[in-house]
Amino acid sequence: MVESLSRAPLFSKTPEGFDELEEKIKDYYSPAQIDLLREAYEFSAKAHEGQIRRSGEPYITHPLGVTAILADLRLDIATLVTGILHDTVEDTEVTLEDIEEHFGPVIRDLVDGVTKISQMQFRHTHEKQGENIRKMIVATGKDVRVILVKLADRLHNMRTLNHMPYSKQSRIAQETLDIYAPLAGRLGIMSMKVELEDLSFRYLHPDQYYELAQKVSQRKQERQKYIDEVIELLTKEIQARSQISFKVYGRPKHLYSIFKKMQARGVDYEQVYDVLAFRVIVQSVAECYEVLGIVHSLWKPIPGRFKDFIAMPKTNNYQSLHTTVIGPKAERIEVQIRTEEMNLVAEWGIAAHWKYKESSRMGNDYIDEATLKKFNWLRELVSFHQNTRNSDEFLENIKTDLVETEIYVFTPKGEVKEFPDGATPIDFAYAIHTQLGDHIVAARVNGRIVPLKYKLQNGDTVEVITSKNQKPSKDWLKICVTSKAKSKIRAFVKSEQRRRSLELGKELLEKTFRKQGESLQKHLKGPEFEKFLKEEGCANVNELYVRVGYGKITPKHVVEKLLPGKKAEEELSGSYLAKAFKSALNRSKKSSSVITVDGMNDVLVRYAKCCHPIPGDPIVGFISRGRGITVHRADCEKTFEMDQERLIDVEWNRANKDSGRIVCIRVVSHDIPGLLKSMTEVFSAHGVNIHNAQIRTTKERKAICIFDVSVRDIQQLTEVMTALEKVKGIIGVTRMLRN
Ligand code: MN
Repeated sequence: MVESLSRAPLFSKTPEGFDELEEKIKDYYSPAQIDLLREAYEFSAKAHEGQIRRSGEPYITHPLGVTAILADLRLDIATLVTGILHDTVEDTEVTLEDIEEHFGPVIRDLVDGVTKISQMQFRHTHEKQGENIRKMIVATGKDVRVILVKLADRLHNMRTLNHMPYSKQSRIAQETLDIYAPLAGRLGIMSMKVELEDLSFRYLHPDQYYELAQKVSQRKQERQKYIDEVIELLTKEIQARSQISFKVYGRPKHLYSIFKKMQARGVDYEQVYDVLAFRVIVQSVAECYEVLGIVHSLWKPIPGRFKDFIAMPKTNNYQSLHTTVIGPKAERIEVQIRTEEMNLVAEWGIAAHWKYKESSRMGNDYIDEATLKKFNWLRELVSFHQNTRNSDEFLENIKTDLVETEIYVFTPKGEVKEFPDGATPIDFAYAIHTQLGDHIVAARVNGRIVPLKYKLQNGDTVEVITSKNQKPSKDWLKICVTSKAKSKIRAFVKSEQRRRSLELGKELLEKTFRKQGESLQKHLKGPEFEKFLKEEGCANVNELYVRVGYGKITPKHVVEKLLPGKKAEEELSGSYLAKAFKSALNRSKKSSSVITVDGMNDVLVRYAKCCHPIPGDPIVGFISRGRGITVHRADCEKTFEMDQERLIDVEWNRANKDSGRIVCIRVVSHDIPGLLKSMTEVFSAHGVNIHNAQIRTTKERKAICIFDVSVRDIQQLTEVMTALEKVKGIIGVTRMLRN
């Protein structure tokens, strides 16, 4: 498999026509395969005849460009044929049946997969975007070639994005950066990931892009001199100490990765040091460690920067040793050490595993099962999300899933598990087993008990502590990051809600029937009942209970249908409360569906403990059974989790100015004497009472104060927060969601 060095891209630009394509790929594909590709080209060119791209070029240049990208990846001929045909069904008269007739069922299915994704692509709403990507991932699960064609399609479109109207450029670039570049990364196709990132960067932040590109090119000569120096030095040292055969390469990192470093550290280009990466390619794993030893004896390694991806390969199967050292002239340089074979996988990812069948015109066994298993995360992604209805939810999850692993932790048995940055013991527990996740109460990390919100650190050994009585809670959604954990928790919460609604619905119905002197159970069978279920769109009696519990069907309605002639009273419970409110309102104010929140005296109105709304905050009401209306801040995360049908518009009563409301303010400051006194003076100057204060100091000599204070309204709160911010020594003032 030592062909990585001969695997440089074939195309630096889109081929002019089919002949140019053929010329460059003829060493890699058989004459029969190239004949098939030519047939497809002619078919596609005819179908797209007369169509032009925004650039003014004939449309066929696009599928040709896409195919050239796929040929660069040396993918199988079926994928290349799909590349040439990928827009025919969507944009021309050609049907899937035509494709099957000419090119067979395999290509038909591939083109179908690509078309399905594309058809949705240009609908604008956020909702649709998530949905598209969901479908895309589901399609990927079936045949990864679909996604490879889609990636090549996107790459070619990004290369020609300058022809798009300005308004579309940033949307497409953002989508590329959020989804396509990480997807290429997860498939291990680094060259594609890097190009997609740099292109997106150019359209999203043109000013910063061009400024950085200019700075990088200004220092190019100087950089190249330095790179040559390091390569020479390193080559000499390895030769002096070892017999191995090896190659050393050096290059500056790509612009977007430098930009990310600048942003993460809040520094300028001049202050980003490790912008150069060197690579040593050797023949065996043992030699990798040998070279590492030489590098570390030559230059001082920076602690914490050594990563052994040979012992612990990344999810995309990337293997390599990484270390950052203080090189000549005290510059930080990154050195990657790997074998030829690892390098092939590192550059080409899933495409490195492609198998060819020279004999067959179009091999279907393009990749073996064992290799696909290595990309198991793809399947997992699909299975977690198949049941996700909410596209936004899906989009958020997928973004986290596509982020490359940042943290490696150990199970008590020494197995390695990988997580995105910010993962907690909950993520860890669900990664091992759903049962473990559902019952986790805490974790023991390196022998010490930590709370659920603890953020896992590289190298932690994690042991889950469970309790039979523990149940997943909605609050966990805020502290876990993996989509596996999130989808399991959501599923549990939803089934709990359903269970509770079922019980409540049953109880309500039984009670209502009892009042009529009837037994509910007696009426739950027979053709009349079946007919009723059908009318209501309920599959079975449990479904009916659930819907009554949710307030979508009233007990009164059920009584009237099942006990003709009887009349039940409206129950003031659940959603019926909303109706009661609305009708009361209609009586007094005529047409308005807005409830005015008066203050604490009104027994039917409570303020949510999770977000502590105060007068002036945008608010929303939630109708809770038997407890009236709970008022939340409109941006409270909890409201997203609630049954949307039970949310109701509410607004503050402006006339009512009396009661003070408690809010929680967090002040971060330098730990200097006298500051607490200054803060309390600010509060009293604004007539704000402090109910409670907690103060702690951090290792970095900062003080964090949490104040519970009572304020009249949002205006008073804003005033006092602004005044606090002006106090010397205070770093930040925020209002907290919960106490
Ligand atoms: Mn296309």
